[in-house]
Amino acid sequence: MSAPRVAVLGSGPAGLTAALYLSRANLPPVVFEGMQPGGQLTITTDVDNFPGFPEGIMGPALMERMKAQCERFGTTFVTDEVVEVELSQRPFRLKPSYADPVEVDALVIATGASARYLGLPNEARLQKSGGGVSACATCDGFFYQDVHVVVVGGGDSAMEEASFLTKFASKVTIVHRRDTLRASKIMQERAMKNDKIEFVWNSEVIDVLGDDQVTGVRLRDRLDGTERELACGGLFLAIGHIPNTKAFEGKLELDEAGYIRPRVPGRSLTSLDGVFACGDVQDTIYRQAITAAGSGCMAAMDCEKWIEDQLHTG
Ligand code: NAP
Repeated sequence: MSAPRVAVLGSGPAGLTAALYLSRANLPPVVFEGMQPGGQLTITTDVDNFPGFPEGIMGPALMERMKAQCERFGTTFVTDEVVEVELSQRPFRLKPSYADPVEVDALVIATGASARYLGLPNEARLQKSGGGVSACATCDGFFYQDVHVVVVGGGDSAMEEASFLTKFASKVTIVHRRDTLRASKIMQERAMKNDKIEFVWNSEVIDVLGDDQVTGVRLRDRLDGTERELACGGLFLAIGHIPNTKAFEGKLELDEAGYIRPRVPGRSLTSLDGVFACGDVQDTIYRQAITAAGSGCMAAMDCEKWIEDQLHTG
């Protein structure tokens, strides 16, 4: 049998760690980098919680280093996104947007999840420039010492992010579009007991104010339609994530929210033999760079073992 061909879809910490481990196992994959090469870390600034960088490292720099490490061991990269997959038989066939289709014997999916944003024009501008709009309190909360911040959302993420932010912020206002929370009871209670957290109910953020830095948000009351401004120095969105699994709908088992469902809980095996998943595309809980990297290692090891078993069984 010729050398097994493996592809990794996605180039965040999960995809690149999988590629590194596969390369070092003599299975150098082709990585389709996706529409956002380097993944979500490329839209953050300082990363202070990735072990090994005591002075911190900028998100894009961390991803460049991971990529260079993969290249050192033979990974090849294609700056393209796989938009269609044929997984009904092996070899699997992958169709990128621009590049020629490729056939592979095994596939590691690390396409990540995208934070949901409100879709406001100023929101995008202030998020891209590091001006105070973020969808990750764990990543950016530290920079909001003694600042009043607003968190949007009513689920577990919003409660968790708001509680986390109270370690730094002077005050956290949770803006929720309804008057009841979706979050679990325990998370609700924790947030409600926190003196630094206050709630604004039945309200939506309709604009983010500020030129270079967030100075406030414009709120609309959904019951009476009145609008007002609320001064704040940061806006955190916690309105859910969207797993990037469109190409796998109907082809792999997904959960109700669209995340890839593992065949065995805690493992990287998917519903199809030879297809493995890692990182945020299968993670509804942790969603950290370090946990993504860890799961990338697991997927590579599961993939390597599967290929080994295939070679021995014929
Ligand atoms: P979620 O449960 O889907 O909640 C999203 C929240 O954002 C909802 O309150 C929703 O409002 C609101 N929302 C959605 N779109 C909006 C919009 N356009 N404008 C304003 N508000 C909007 O998402 P999540 O909180 O990220 O949680 C996802 C999953 O991860 C859940 O299963 C959760 O239990 C789990 N999780 C668990 C933990 C934990 O256990 N430690 C922590 C975080 C997340 P409505 O309520 O009105 O729909």
